[in-house]
Order: sequence, then C-alpha cells, then structure tokens
Amino acid sequence: MVSAKKNASAIVWFRQDLRVHDNPTLHAAQSDGDILPIYILDDVNAGAWKMGGASRVWLHQSLHDLNRSLGGKLRIFCGDASEILLKLVEETKAQSVHWSRCYEPWRIARDKKIKNALQALGVSANSHNGSLLWEPWTILKGDQTPYKVYTPYYKNGCLNAPEPRQPLPAIKDIRFAQSSVTGGECSLKALKLEPATDWSSGIKKVWQVGEDAAASKLENFIENGLHQYKVGRDFPASNCTSLLSPHLHFGEISPHQVWHRIKQEEAQFGSDDLIHYLREIAWREFSYYLLYHWPHIPEAPFNPKYAAFPWRHDEQALGQWQKGQTGFPIIDAGMRELWQTGYMHNRVRMIVASFLVKNQLINWREGEAWFWDCLVDADLASNSASWQWSAGCGADAAPFFRIFNPVLQSEKFDSEGVYIKQYCPELSGLTGKFLHKPWEAKPEMLEAAGIELGVDYPQPILDLKVTRQRALAANSSLKT
Ligand SMILES: Cc1cc2nc3c(=O)[nH]c(=O)nc-3n(C[C@H](O)[C@H](O)[C@H](O)COP(=O)(O)OP(=O)(O)OC[C@H]3O[C@@H](n4cnc5c(N)ncnc54)[C@H](O)[C@@H]3O)c2cc1C
Repeated sequence: MVSAKKNASAIVWFRQDLRVHDNPTLHAAQSDGDILPIYILDDVNAGAWKMGGASRVWLHQSLHDLNRSLGGKLRIFCGDASEILLKLVEETKAQSVHWSRCYEPWRIARDKKIKNALQALGVSANSHNGSLLWEPWTILKGDQTPYKVYTPYYKNGCLNAPEPRQPLPAIKDIRFAQSSVTGGECSLKALKLEPATDWSSGIKKVWQVGEDAAASKLENFIENGLHQYKVGRDFPASNCTSLLSPHLHFGEISPHQVWHRIKQEEAQFGSDDLIHYLREIAWREFSYYLLYHWPHIPEAPFNPKYAAFPWRHDEQALGQWQKGQTGFPIIDAGMRELWQTGYMHNRVRMIVASFLVKNQLINWREGEAWFWDCLVDADLASNSASWQWSAGCGADAAPFFRIFNPVLQSEKFDSEGVYIKQYCPELSGLTGKFLHKPWEAKPEMLEAAGIELGVDYPQPILDLKVTRQRALAANSSLKT
C-alpha cells in the first residue's frame, strides 16, 4: 500500500504562492509522491475580479522565475480551473492535488466545488496555509464573533494566538512526475500577460520580480529602511518602506518568512520601528480577515449607511484624477507614479483616495477599479479594505469628516518636493510652498520656472474649501 502511494503523482497547483522556499503545499505534495507542478490562469471563474493589467505583467515575470526554480517543469494552463484540474487528474492518474488557500470569495466558492469533485473521484484534495500568519476563522472575540476593529484584533486576537509557524526550508531535490499532458496546456507567451504597448516597460524597469528578488528586497529593507520605519514610512521620498507588497501578494515571499526575519532583528535590536512594521504586516492579515468574514466588501460598503451616499458621476473629473492632471502636484505625482511603475506610496494612496472620494465626490469603487488595473500589488483584500477605510465606510475606517488637505499633506510629507519633482518634472523650476500650490505663484515666478498654468501644468480642477464643505454636507445627508 505504502509503495503504491509513493509512486503516485501529486499535482501541485501554484496560485498565490509562487515560490519554492517556505511552501507548505510543495512539502506536503512531495511526501505523496512525484509531483506535477501547474499554474492555471482562471479568468473564467474570476469574473469581474480577473487580474488587472499591471498584475498580469508581474505574473508573467513571476511565472517565468518560478519555472526556472522548478527546472523548467512548471505546466501552464488557461481557462476554467475546475475543468482543467479534473481533466488533468484523469490524464495523469494523480492521486492527490495540493494547493495553498486563497481567500477571495470567488476562489473559495470555486475551490469548494473542486474539492468535492476530486473527493467524489477518490482523489485526495488538500489545501494548505501558505499566505497568512493567522487563519481568519481562528481569531475570534470571546463571544465567537469576528473582530471589526483592528487594534483588538491584532493585540487581543493575533498576539494571543499561537506564534506563526517558522518558515520551512526549500526542498533540495524535488521529484517530478513523468506524466505527459496532452490537452489544454499553453506556453507562458500564449497567456498574453504582457500588453503590446510599451506601457509595461516602466514596471519592468523598476521591479525585479521573483523569489530571489523578494528575499534580497527584505534584506535591503532591514539594512536601509527598517530602523527608520516608524517615522520614515510616511515620507514618499524617504525609501523607508519595504516595497514587498507585490511579492507578498503573489507569494514570492511568505508572511512567515518576513515575520520571523523581523522578529530576529527585534530580538537583537528591539525597537519601535520593528514593532511598527509587524503591525503593518498585520494590517494585511486584517484585510484578509475582513474579506473572509464580510465577503461583500469589494462591492459594497461595510457600513450599510453608505449605500445611499450621493456620489457624483463625472467622467471628466475621474479621467483627470486617473491621468494625474488635477493641478494638485501631490495628487498628480501619485497618480503618475502609479501609471509609470504600478505602485504608489501608502501615504500618497491615502491622499489621492481622499481627494477622489471626498473632494471629487466620486464613488470609491471607481478608485478601487483603477487601482485594481494599475497596481502590481493589486490585492482584493487590501485594496477593498483600504478604499473603504479611506472612504469612511469600512471597518475601523477613518471617519468621513477627516478630509485630507492635499496641499498640507504635501507640505508635511514632501516638504522639499523631491517626490513631486520626480513625477511632475515640469514643476521642477518652482521652489518652496509654490511647488505644493503652483496656482499661488506670481506670474513672473511661473515664467522664470518655464510654466504656463493650463498649458504646461493644469490649473487646479477644484476648490478645496468648497468641495470639502460639499463632502461634509453629503455625509450629513445620510441617515444614521
Ligand atoms: C486606497 C488604498 C489602496 C490600497 N491597495 C492595496 C493593494 O491593492 N494591495 C496592497 O498590498 N496594499 C494596498 N494598500 C495598502 C498599502 O498602501 C500597501 O500595502 C503599501 O503601500 C505597500 O508598500 P510597502 O510594501 O512598501 O509597505 P510597507 O510599509 O513596507 O508594509 C509592509 C507590508 O505590510 C502590508 N501593509 C502595509 N500597509 C498596509 C495596509 N494599509 N493595508 C494592508 N496591508 C498593508 C503590505 O503587505 C506591505 O507590503 C492600499 C492602501 C490604500 C490607502
């Protein structure tokens, strides 16, 4: 019996765990027999939440890297994962299928169906935790209901739960099944993840993708950013954040690897910066927690009162925000950073989100959709929870009346305008406060800086005071 099992092949279905280190799925599958590693691009079941453009560019590079780590043995498929898996099992006679759990509602529904179908065929279907420090169903309040507020979730829930497991070593000699697969397989190129336009060149220029890149980014951050993190993380030009979000999203590094590496540093240096960083890692966990317990959050406000919010429909204003043409330098710098690199600094994400939702009075779902398409770290849990947080309608959200003033934010967090000048180079000739509000510069100053407002750089598209009042009035119009 045992030897029969040993020879059986196990399918390892890679999803958001595109790594060979600390991969519990790979470990479990390897003990079942020789493995067949696969990836399926399933746009069929994803529906409205199929991967956006920037994520696809990242995925292309990441699959390429994983395939290299697997000695070229990764098999790639495209289509309905249920159909593909069942066909594969039939063809290869695999006796087990292993995957790392995902928490998006559409994936949970699909995976349950797949598990049932595999079990009905007598195939062992196994899901593992490769992406979260704490499974969402294990952290509950005393009355067995889920937390809605981050601090008690983290402090009373997570920090009182068993310590997240230590990272697993990479398997030295992965044994691959010899199974030949005949139907449905496609090459990475055939997935057409990279656009024909040169838009993605900016992303490819600034990011090193893959498992090795993620590991060295963590070490680089520990050396150069971690010990100034608590304060530095708010300054977009300070390079004090880890830039690990896309790597964590695609599972090129696990939160366990990050958590325990930072804990090692904490044991040695113990500082507020490290504690603060772990707290941010736990915000990612909290986002997944919210999505798991309230699966409607990508589509509807957590606080139902906001379902009746009087949003404006204004295509022109939305387009100006998307293209970084609002006339507010910090907003435009952020939106252009997003377009050019597939990333935006967290502080700036909060500022541009507040501007869209509160000053422009445009539904947060428009912002969520734009970020979904443009971010390399686009993540259903973190994106929806963060947009709801910014819009004041989420769990433990910033109150709606807290409206960021983009000029004050810019003066505080980019006082020298280093970030602004990087993404709005046409403003480089301006200095001091005028970099943050060019419309207040005298004509001769603008002329000396080579700027004609409305020609080289937009006039501000709205009045901050008037739109602030409008937002507060809209909020007050809601019944409590
Ligand atoms: C409107 C809006 C939309 C966002 N959309 C996403 C998204 O789609 N995907 C995404 O990963 N993050 C999102 N965030 C959260 C945050 O901006 C990014 O995680 C962070 O900027 C990533 O940069 P970093 O890796 O250098 O972060 P660091 O400061 O180095 O933090 C380390 C890690 O902690 C996690 N983290 C940090 N802050 C948050 C947060 N507020 N919420 C959840 N996790 C966090 C991330 O995994 C991050 O990589 C969004 C924030 C806002 C305000």
